[in-house]
Amino acid sequence: MMKTGTPLEHLQKAIQCETVSYGDRSRINFKEFDKFIAFLKESYPLLHKKATLEMVEKYALVYKLKGTSNLDPIALMGHYDVVPVKVEGWKVPPFGAEIHDGYIYGRGTLDMKGHVIAVCEAVEACLSEGIGFERDVYLLFGHNEETGSEMIDSGARLTRNLLKQRGIHFNLVLDEGGAYINGKAMGVDSTIALIGVGEKGYLDVELSATQSGGHASTPPHTSALYDVAQAAMKMESHKFSADFNPATEAMFKALIPYMKQPMKFLFKNRQLFKPILLLALVKSPETAATVRTTSVMTMASGSSAPNVLAQVAKININCRIIPGDSIEKTVRRIETRVGPKIKVTPKNGNQPTEICRSDIPQFEIVSKALTSVYPELRVVAPYLMVAATDSRVYHGMADAVYRVPPFSSMKDDRSTIHADNERLSIESYHKGIEFFKKVLIEATKTK
Ligand SMILES: [Zn+2]
Repeated sequence: MMKTGTPLEHLQKAIQCETVSYGDRSRINFKEFDKFIAFLKESYPLLHKKATLEMVEKYALVYKLKGTSNLDPIALMGHYDVVPVKVEGWKVPPFGAEIHDGYIYGRGTLDMKGHVIAVCEAVEACLSEGIGFERDVYLLFGHNEETGSEMIDSGARLTRNLLKQRGIHFNLVLDEGGAYINGKAMGVDSTIALIGVGEKGYLDVELSATQSGGHASTPPHTSALYDVAQAAMKMESHKFSADFNPATEAMFKALIPYMKQPMKFLFKNRQLFKPILLLALVKSPETAATVRTTSVMTMASGSSAPNVLAQVAKININCRIIPGDSIEKTVRRIETRVGPKIKVTPKNGNQPTEICRSDIPQFEIVSKALTSVYPELRVVAPYLMVAATDSRVYHGMADAVYRVPPFSSMKDDRSTIHADNERLSIESYHKGIEFFKKVLIEATKTK
């Protein structure tokens, strides 16, 4: 068969397509998206020969490989849009896909063309080796994840609607996310791989205060900006209360066997030691976010001139809602806290997802695939993702929706996501392909 390039060359070509997402559609250069689709067609001939391809909203790609059984299919999801770059901070051209010291650099290497291309490589390899699938395999690649699955034109949402209409229910859905963390904080003596089994909710709330305005030389007792700032400060100085939730419960259960004393004892008796454990967990922003609804000020506005009083002053509060909590409850609690002088307007949001089970074969298949490509990894545990992914739309139409970290080099380079000098280790990339291959083989078996 004609060779179309190595897996690494394919990833380079993928990164070189400048598929940058903007909320304002008129700023999107769709030619680059066309280029990416043409690249896929030319690089993965077997996939394009054996699978059907549908385009939703013109650019969201839905590949379907027919399996030999009629059992529920699996889906490997991803998105091929990327966030914009600020060129100044980059040591290399952001879309150059240059290779230095064992790393490939470029916007999208981690978030998430590396993942998408690894999936394509794995599928193509299976097909070329004659490996058949018993379950149908869907590859669902969105084109506008970075602007949010709440958008009307969200490729993921529209794709989900289409598949739902067809009555499809998935056995397993895999998307981006997950993490590698140092186990020390949890009393575990190795790196821990985390698989996201649910996501927090999202909510923007606008706080506003009004005043009749007037001249800044004769100010009222308190200005609108003062009132709204005071209300917003009440939100930040008194955090929402912390508690365990089904996702943290599942994580603790998975980690306890690997914990050393005294952590093992504390977590085994976590109801008894809850106050101490929660106090420890809220100390770091990362773990705090997994046990409480968070809120933080993100935008503020007052008057339009330095010597003019604001008639309306606004502050946006961005909240991430813990499972078990809800948009409605969060809004009510904000209203109570800020008091009647402040208008509370919920802007956009989505509820926290349900938490998928991790005591089912799907979880074992995915975690075994990870530990087999990364033998140094001893522990894989479920956890709550605090960021949002497109996969949230599949909760309710799948037995398992997991966010997986195919590349262990992410542990050190996580901070380059959405930032300068995003990079992926080439070794991890190749292991990621192996990971998806194993998942494809094992997860499509019907026994
Ligand atoms: Zn992403």
